[in-house]
Amino acid sequence: MGKTQEVSYTVIIKNDPDKDRLQLINQYWNFKESAFKNKPKQLSGKNNLTSHELFLIIKEYSFVNLECICPGCNKLTEVAISSQSHFLDSLRNSPLCEECKTKQKLKWEETKKKVIEIRQKNHELAQQKIERQGKFNWALNRYKETRFTDEQAKFMIHIIDTCPDKVSLSFYSEHFVILQKFKLLELIHIEENLAEKYVEIYYPEELREILENHINREHSESENQTYKTWSRLSFHLEKNKSYRNSNTPRFSGTIIFKEDIVIKKGTKCLYGVWDRDHDDAWLTLTPTSDIIVAKNKPIHKEPEHIANILNRFLVNPENRDY
Ligand SMILES: [Zn+2]
Repeated sequence: MGKTQEVSYTVIIKNDPDKDRLQLINQYWNFKESAFKNKPKQLSGKNNLTSHELFLIIKEYSFVNLECICPGCNKLTEVAISSQSHFLDSLRNSPLCEECKTKQKLKWEETKKKVIEIRQKNHELAQQKIERQGKFNWALNRYKETRFTDEQAKFMIHIIDTCPDKVSLSFYSEHFVILQKFKLLELIHIEENLAEKYVEIYYPEELREILENHINREHSESENQTYKTWSRLSFHLEKNKSYRNSNTPRFSGTIIFKEDIVIKKGTKCLYGVWDRDHDDAWLTLTPTSDIIVAKNKPIHKEPEHIANILNRFLVNPENRDY
C-alpha cells in the first residue's frame, strides 16, 4: 500500500453491474501512491465510451466513501465521492462534517440577519434625518416669512396708534404681506368681512411694547458695532527716497490692516501728521465722536470752540500712540 495508507477509502458497488462494468469500476477507482492509476480519458478510449458515458456508468453503479479529517472539528468523517476529480478535490480541501456544515450555515444565517438588521437601522436613521431636515426646512421658511424689519415693526406701531380695530379691504390688500407675517407669528388675529369690505385686526396690548423693544434693540446693536470696529487709525509714513518734486509723493509705502475697519458715511474725523526721524512722519485719524466719548464730556457742555478741543487733543502726549 505504501503512501496510499494515509488515504482510506471504500468503493461501494450498487445496482448490480455486469462483469465488464464491474471491471471498469474497479479500474476507475484504482488509487495508489497519491494518484489514480487510470485516467478517465484512457478508460473511456479503451472501452469505446465517451467521457460522459463513462461518468454515467460510474455514477449509476458506484460511489466511494472517503475518510477525511473535518477542518472544523478535526473529527474523522466520511464523504461520499462520485468522481476522480471530486476525490482529489476532497483530499486537497477536506470538506466540513455535517455537524460543522450545519453550524456554519447557522452562522451565515445569523450574519446575514445582522447585516439586514444593520441595513434596516441605517435606513431608519436616514429616514429620520430626512424627516428632521424637512421639519427644519419648514421652520427655516417660516422663520424667513415671519421675520419682520424695523420698517414693518414701525408700520404695525402706526396701525396700533392710529387705526381702530377695523381697516378697509383696500388698505388690507395693500399691506397684506406685512399683516400676514404678524398673523403667522400669531401676534395678531385677522377677521375678514368681505361682504362689508372691512377687516378686523385684533392684537394683545403688549404688542406695541414688544415692537418698540425690537426696534431699539436693533439700533443699539448696530451702534455698538460701529464703536467696536472703529476708534483710531495711526501708522508710520515712510519718506519716498525717489522724491523729486510735487509730482512725486513725499511719503510712500504699504501697510497691512490686521482687522476690519469700517468708516461709516458721514463720519467726521480728525487727522494729524507728526515729523519723525529721517524725514519720516506719523499719521493718526480719529473720529471726532470718539474723542468726545474718550473725554467723557458732551460737546454742548464744552465752552470752547471745537477747534481748540481738537487741537489740544492732537498735542496732548496722552493721546499719542507712538
Ligand atoms: Zn466537523
